[in-house]
Amino acid sequence: MELPVKPLELIVAPPAYHMVGDGFRVHNFIPSVYRLDMHRMDPFIMMDYNSKFLFPPSPQQRGVGVHPHRGFETVTLAYHGRVAHHDSAGNSGIIGEGEVQWMTAASGVLHKEYHEKSFSESGGYFQMVQLWVNLPAKDKMSPPKYQAITRADIQPIILDEQGSRLELVAGFYKDQKGPASTFTPVHISTAYLKQNGELSMQFPAHYTVCVVAIEGEVVVNTEDVLPQDHLGLFQNQGESFTLQAKADAAILILAGEPIKEPIAAHGPFVMNTRAELVQAFNDFNAGLFGELAD
Ligand code: MN
Repeated sequence: MELPVKPLELIVAPPAYHMVGDGFRVHNFIPSVYRLDMHRMDPFIMMDYNSKFLFPPSPQQRGVGVHPHRGFETVTLAYHGRVAHHDSAGNSGIIGEGEVQWMTAASGVLHKEYHEKSFSESGGYFQMVQLWVNLPAKDKMSPPKYQAITRADIQPIILDEQGSRLELVAGFYKDQKGPASTFTPVHISTAYLKQNGELSMQFPAHYTVCVVAIEGEVVVNTEDVLPQDHLGLFQNQGESFTLQAKADAAILILAGEPIKEPIAAHGPFVMNTRAELVQAFNDFNAGLFGELAD
């Protein structure tokens, strides 16, 4: 049976970049772009995209120093370069090309995010996406945790004889499940399509769904070209869409069931009410997020 087509709602060019610390040169798609606010993109409440950029060698590790988070998860996908992470819950890790850091801040952590030491020293191409995935109210104050999702965890799903593949991080593709554990239904994958490669994806009509052209461009639903570094947002109706690559391309695919709860957000804290936000600042100032050395 043919599922109804999920139409594109809009294509968004990458907004002007800004620096996060000295290591992340990012285009903020969510929530700063008009029409990509936290409510529209629920459960994806933030997306920073570091388009492919050549960092020169640096004796100091580039990155962003110790800072807090509460109420959500930070998900960092590395496409080029290597990222290191340390947090006050005692977790740390280094991820490289095609790997993912999934940090559940939940009740609160301090963390720092850097270019991995030898990558900083040698310099090189750096490209990554950081997402904040919201947590439902019942999980916002659960204990922090950390998932390092490495090459060994991500078994590429082969899509065609040319070698197009889907690297599934979270959620499902047909009957296959990605390695990340999530609190609400979320799908995150990257499709690496070879020339003339094609992929059809299905999600429930009410899910929030978007794609980002990480490398190359793709044709969406046989009609619209999504250029490199652009985001394509789908309507919350219809269930099935297609991606076709005229030349080799890599496409990030995000889909999630909206949590549909009130959002009270300020800086690194995303809660449900203003009182919880004030509490987050008070707890942070009282040192309740733990300790982490610079
Ligand atoms: Mn952070």
